[in-house]
Parts: sequence; C-alpha cells; structure tokens
Amino acid sequence: MNLQQTDPQIAELIALEAKRQESTLELIASENHVSRAVLAAAGSCLTNKYAEGYPNARYYQACGYYDQVETLAIERAKQLFNCKFANVQAHSGANANLAAFMALMQPGDPFISLNLASGGHLSHGMKLNTSAIFYKAAHYELDPKTETIDFNSVRAKAKELKPKMILCGYSAYPRMIDFAKFREIADEVGAFLLADIAHIAGLVSAGVHPSPFPHCHVVTTTTHKTLRGPRGGLILTNDEHLAKAVNRSVFPGSQGGPLMHIIAAKAVAFHEALQPAFKTYAQQIVKNASALAAALTQRGYRLTSGGTDTHLMLVDLRAKSESLTGADAANALEAAGIIANKNGVPNDPRPPKFTSGVRLGTPAITTRGLKESDMETVANFIDRAMMNKDNPDALAAIRGEVAAFAAKFPMPH
Ligand SMILES: *Cc1c(COP(=O)(O)O)cnc(C)c1O
Repeated sequence: MNLQQTDPQIAELIALEAKRQESTLELIASENHVSRAVLAAAGSCLTNKYAEGYPNARYYQACGYYDQVETLAIERAKQLFNCKFANVQAHSGANANLAAFMALMQPGDPFISLNLASGGHLSHGMKLNTSAIFYKAAHYELDPKTETIDFNSVRAKAKELKPKMILCGYSAYPRMIDFAKFREIADEVGAFLLADIAHIAGLVSAGVHPSPFPHCHVVTTTTHKTLRGPRGGLILTNDEHLAKAVNRSVFPGSQGGPLMHIIAAKAVAFHEALQPAFKTYAQQIVKNASALAAALTQRGYRLTSGGTDTHLMLVDLRAKSESLTGADAANALEAAGIIANKNGVPNDPRPPKFTSGVRLGTPAITTRGLKESDMETVANFIDRAMMNKDNPDALAAIRGEVAAFAAKFPMPH
C-alpha cells in the first residue's frame, strides 16, 4: 500500500508542506533543498536493517550491502574534505559534537567556545546541554567593535583556564574563521582544536571557505546545511588514534544502530558535492549573500560585523527601527512567504524570545536558482514585509507576489 492509501492524513500534510516549500523563499541559513536522488536514498528500504558496528565488523548478519554503502560514504567524505578518517554514523550535528567531546575529553574537563548568544551552538556549552552538564564550559568573546572573533580573548581564556579543548565554528557568525590562528593558541596551551563546520561544510568542501585541515585535530559537521544532504552528522580527522576514539564514542559510546538509509543519502550528497557543479553552487551562495547584504544595507539595515563573507548574515534591526524586534520581523516575513528566524545580535538587550535581529542565509534560494540580480527583489520583499508588520492586508499582498516570484524557480530534480 502506498502512503496515500495507508495514511491519507500524513500524505496530505506532506503534500501541503511540499506546496509551502515551493511557494515561499527559504532564507533560514541552516536549511536547504535536497535533490530527488538524496530523497530516494533517504526513503529507501535501507531503513529496515540493523547494522550495529562498522563496515566488515557488524553485530548482525547480512550487512554486505550496508558495508559497501557505508564504505562509499566514508571514502567520499574523505575525498570531499581531503582528510584521512571519517565517521558517517553520527545521527546529527549535536550527536557528532557529543562524540567528539567524548573522544577528546574526560568528564569534568574544561573547554572554551563562543557562547550561544554570540553566535555559538547550544551543543557548545549551553547550560542545559550535555556539553555543559558533563564538561566545564567557558567562553571567549567577540570584539565588541568589529563583532568578529577576539583572538586576544581566546588567548587570555586559554592561558587562564588551560582548557583540554578549544572549539571554533558557529551557527550565527557571518565571517570566515581563521583556523590557523586558533591552532596557534591551542598549541600554546596544549589543547585540542575542534572545528564544528556544521554551517559552512558545503563552502569548505568547495574551497569557498578555508579548510579546517590541517589545523584542527577533529572536525564535526552536519550534512544538511550548505552541504545539501540528508539531516545528519559527520566527524573527520587526520589522526588515526583520534579516529579510533571517535568511532568508539559514536558506537557504542553514544549511539546504537546507524541510520543506514541516511548514510546512503549522505553518500549520494557527497557524490553530488564532488561534482564541478557544486563548486559553482557554493560560489553562487556566497555571491548571493553578498548581494543581499548590500541590498539590505542600502535600505538602512545594519549587518553585524558590517556584512558577510559566507552564506549568512545577521541583521541588527535596531538601526532601521528601534521598536522592531526579531520576533516581529520573523513573523511578518513568514506572513509574506519569506522564511527566516529571529536571532540575537551580539550583546542583545532583548531576551531570546524577542531578540533584536534576524538571521538570513542564501543556501536554499541558491539551490532554487536565484542569482545576484534577484537579490534586489528579495531585499525589497523583506523590507516591505518588515515595514508592514502590523498591516495584514499588505503582508497578504506581498505573500502573493512572493509565491508568483518563487514559482519561477523550481525545486531541484
Ligand atoms: C546546526 C548546528 C549543529 C547541530 O546540528 P543538529 O543536526 O541540529 O544537531 C551543531 N553545530 C553547529 C555550529 C550548528 O550550526
């Protein structure tokens, strides 16, 4: 029985969601639209089987095809990021980080990272997360003037706390990361350097953002953001000893059976990312982000750090309107068919429920084929929606225009 016959309610909801995705512009910086090929692998019969263990060392019978699938995923990941070892089993980015933490530290060990409010991720030591419950989290700061990483603060914290690990890589940081500089400081205090490239993995693989290798001891990432694969995690290293520790930390350390259908979909996404067209795609993501940043700046919006050199930007709304919160803006944008998230800006006086900013990213709209010349149109939609946040009729009118515009850019095949 197919889905429509077995469960018309869920089938209907999926159809409605597909329509929503097609008729809106997706500007959430951590989202993307995967190919039909990735979807096919993720929706395949590989979901049926247990394959606990690693290729050629499984705890269940009949894993022959699974060994080949996982080996392909591993080999492609290594090629894509130019490194020696890859673990493709982490269920998500947060799980990848947990496993990396377990491989690099003992419970109670200190580490330093950028905190959530400044652009870090909750798995980087937010107080309710395992990263802060089982390890001792402290944070380095952004330079309040430039709103970029303050390496004096990184060095000072590192010297003061002698962390076992320094963590770089962020969720809401628009600038490139200087991995070599982080490594210099890590070496000064004898710390491991972990890079979490969840957001920028696709840019890194395409050479549009500098690589964390050879500077970082371990690299974690998601596979579903700029890398445009299925929802999942990935852990990379060049160090054989650390690779073994990482594998143990994933299974049996923190997970049971791998999601083999998702690992197959990761393999497909890595294959796609190895093609020349993906490099062009990643370059276009950054060109679009720059063009959108310029168009918004021209309309009186302030971008933190003054702009972007990646796929994302953080809009500080206060320069445009003192009373416009991030929550207001995100709600107005959604009503207009533009999907984004509210986001705190550095030293945001407003609480996380409201915030003073929105985070915008171009990976998904670039997948749909939008180019720099379309960013004026997108910036106009954004500006009009935010300036009409209390006018439902105006928002509905923009919603119609956005749907008509989006219809010109089909979903990937
Ligand atoms: C998105 C993100 C993650 C977490 O990914 P999940 O798959 O949602 O667990 C981890 N680290 C960073 C920096 C991220 O941006």
